[in-house]
Amino acid sequence: MNAPLPVDVLKQHLIDPEICIRCNTCEETCPVDAITHDSNNYVVDPDICNGCMACVPPCPTGSIDNWRLMVRSEAYSVQEQFGWEELPKEKALPAASPTSTPIEGADTSLDSPLSQAAETLAAAPAQASFTPAGASVPPWSAAHPYVNLYTHKAPMTATVVGNYRVTGADTESDIHHIVLDFGELPFPVLEGQSIGILPPGVDAQGRPHHARQYSLASPRDGERAGYNNLSLTVKRVTEDHGGAAAHGVCSNYLCDLAKNDTVQVIGPFGHTFLMPNHPRANLIMICTGTGSAPMRAMTERYRRRIDSGENGRLMLFFGARTERELPYFGPLMKLPRDFIDINLALSREPGQPKRYVQDLIRDRAAQVCDLLADRNTCIYVCGLKGMEVGVLDALRDVTMQSGQDWSILHEVLRREGRLHFETY
Ligand code: NAP
Repeated sequence: MNAPLPVDVLKQHLIDPEICIRCNTCEETCPVDAITHDSNNYVVDPDICNGCMACVPPCPTGSIDNWRLMVRSEAYSVQEQFGWEELPKEKALPAASPTSTPIEGADTSLDSPLSQAAETLAAAPAQASFTPAGASVPPWSAAHPYVNLYTHKAPMTATVVGNYRVTGADTESDIHHIVLDFGELPFPVLEGQSIGILPPGVDAQGRPHHARQYSLASPRDGERAGYNNLSLTVKRVTEDHGGAAAHGVCSNYLCDLAKNDTVQVIGPFGHTFLMPNHPRANLIMICTGTGSAPMRAMTERYRRRIDSGENGRLMLFFGARTERELPYFGPLMKLPRDFIDINLALSREPGQPKRYVQDLIRDRAAQVCDLLADRNTCIYVCGLKGMEVGVLDALRDVTMQSGQDWSILHEVLRREGRLHFETY
């Protein structure tokens, strides 16, 4: 008559609101739509999450990787999580803690179904049921990245030492190159990492704005070599994705900054979208618009050691509406042709056919396949979300044309940390 009732234990997936930079990567990645957000927080629905872990590697801050063993009926609801400013303290499960209140009817001895379930859940890695398009590990030779050195609670103050427009003044694309200096304080970064900017002021609910994430446009040794500074590529947002008028809080703040203004910075973030660090590694870089920021950082890293004999080959596919809307067009075109193979895809250049980066990958199939056949080649894709599928299709087409099996190569590229996506 006193047999224990079965107790349903859940390994609840939570996102740390103090570290999360609200970049939407987890919501984009979740294959079962378990992640959602309001104006305050990104949260995981305990009734939908299957613990597949697909969202964990892409998270640039690690805020996604929080788990609590909970009695299922007491799991934190989505509504509760929306209200959090920080994660609640861990609660011991009834069976694990002699001081906790036992669940009515539950056997709380060490061998109880409750403690066994808890142990199994704590020990077992969650089942992966989803394969993302890109790698969840960095290339084997990538340098060690530092992340989360500065947080929402303890940001770093940087000084603006440069802010100028890098697109034609007569075009709609108002893209700025912004240089931030950290003075004496350490801010170690790698190409491919990002930082968060805390815009001043409060949101519609009267809460401080959350950080906005921007990729570095400068290499690890600074925008100016040997200086403790870095650069960002920021497009002034004046409309939303649907074309309706919208005022980008942080992009307008950044684009309007003057020299000597100060900015609150958090980060750095990102541990996978990193460049290889061994000699003669080749890079295929595919980007649109401001997605060129990490490509500029990586290219500049190579340019600074152009005479070292260490560089592999660089191949760039860069999409923009017109030449005048392509950030850094002038400096880019001055780079030596034997240093970087530049392919510009212009979609709205008057008098020219509409071209996307994936069209040019097909045009250059032989050269792309040649690079893909070399295990020293890494591929980076950054920019508009919409290009992800097109780029994967183009890579599949060119590989198959050369008689290779894309599904096998794709898996190898992912496993070896040689194919990376950062799209929004
Ligand atoms: P954009 O000017 O809107 O577009 C750039 C080019 O991409 C245009 O030629 C556009 O052609 C083309 N394009 C549109 N859909 C495409 C598709 N499905 N496949 C291939 N090309 C396509 O770009 P943007 O406003 O600069 O946006 C760049 C993106 O990068 C943003 O989503 C941004 O969030 C992201 N990003 C920024 C940073 C940063 O640090 N600032 C870092 C990482 C990512 P159409 O003429 O057809 O429009």
